[in-house]
Amino acid sequence: MENGVDGYPRGVTASNTVPLGLPALRSAPPADPSRPADPRLVDTFGRVATDLRISLTDRCNLRCTYCMPAEGLDWMPREEQLTDAELMRLITIAVRDLGIHELRFTGGEPLLRKGLEELIAASAALEPRPDISLTTNGIGLARRAESLAAAGVNRLNVSMDTLRPERFATITRRDRLSDVLDGLAAARAAGLNPVKINSVLLRGMNDDEAADMLAFAVEYGYELRFIEQMPLDAQHGWERSEMITAGEIMERLSARFTLTPDGEARGGAPAERYLVDGGPARVGVIASVTRPFCGACDRTRLTADGQVRSCLFARTETDLRALLRGGSTDAEIAETWRIAMWGKLAGHGIDDPGFLQPDRPMSAIGG
Ligand code: SAM
Ligand code: SF4
Repeated sequence: MENGVDGYPRGVTASNTVPLGLPALRSAPPADPSRPADPRLVDTFGRVATDLRISLTDRCNLRCTYCMPAEGLDWMPREEQLTDAELMRLITIAVRDLGIHELRFTGGEPLLRKGLEELIAASAALEPRPDISLTTNGIGLARRAESLAAAGVNRLNVSMDTLRPERFATITRRDRLSDVLDGLAAARAAGLNPVKINSVLLRGMNDDEAADMLAFAVEYGYELRFIEQMPLDAQHGWERSEMITAGEIMERLSARFTLTPDGEARGGAPAERYLVDGGPARVGVIASVTRPFCGACDRTRLTADGQVRSCLFARTETDLRALLRGGSTDAEIAETWRIAMWGKLAGHGIDDPGFLQPDRPMSAIGG
């Protein structure tokens, strides 16, 4: 594909890249002659992105304290959000032309996106058929689990940080724990296996519940994963010293269980996995802050308004929506996506003194 006068692929200009915060970097650098003629999403560190995380909406029906403020956020105007047709065009390009073989739908709360089952079914019909997963807070899952499984969801992650209703209401600012528990049970009954539970531990709030959560997950056949709290909340309230570290999580779990590394190759998976009391039950710890796994990262991200992000913590984005709406060809869009990923940084640098939190909160990026 030819480049324009400014070095961007035709259709891509500095004006349709979106710099987020400082320093303002151009998000789609000029085509680099050192980039190999590889159709996949390779970067300068030899990583290949094969896992696409798609945020379907920035809206949510919970208000988790580590994610967004009580009053919610200024939601993305509808017209800025990709339509189903636009989204399916990008997903098709990703799977057909860029070597993506895993899709994870997330948000915001993905169950709030109208037509979710249709999007999943259309994704499942692509060749080669991608693996499809969903990360949800579980509200409304009880009545959707079967239709989601029928549409083609292979695996599901449900977020739940506590087993105590009053704590759930404090953490999420909504009294909905029983909905989440019903959703989990429905997902298991619908044959979505494994059903994983994502938990964030907060100091002084639910960090005494780590072992109870694991006992619950083992008893009911869910796979629990603890996620270190990351600086991605809209309120910028994260403090390193307040975060419960992976080391602390292991300590709390080891007081009741014997944990041994499961010995399986981790690949690009974020979770370190352990057998619980010899197995077969497993538990995962996602130590994004204290033991970052950027060196093996295989992810590329698409926001609900059509911006490609090479990392959760990226401070620049590449605007594919402008290309979609400006009449670009599939080949031009694919090449722009490749260039955006070629410029992916080595790591997120949360522990660097100069770390700057991205302007977009987790709920608008897609976790
Ligand atoms: N609403 C859905 C849910 O909660 O599962 C999907 C989106 S949510 C942003 C995805 C995951 O990110 C959830 O498991 C949530 O607990 C996690 N998360 C949100 N904010 C986080 C933060 N600041 N640090 C670590 N994980 C976070
Ligand atoms: Fe909503 Fe998920 Fe954020 Fe909680 S973590 S407020 S459920 S987007």
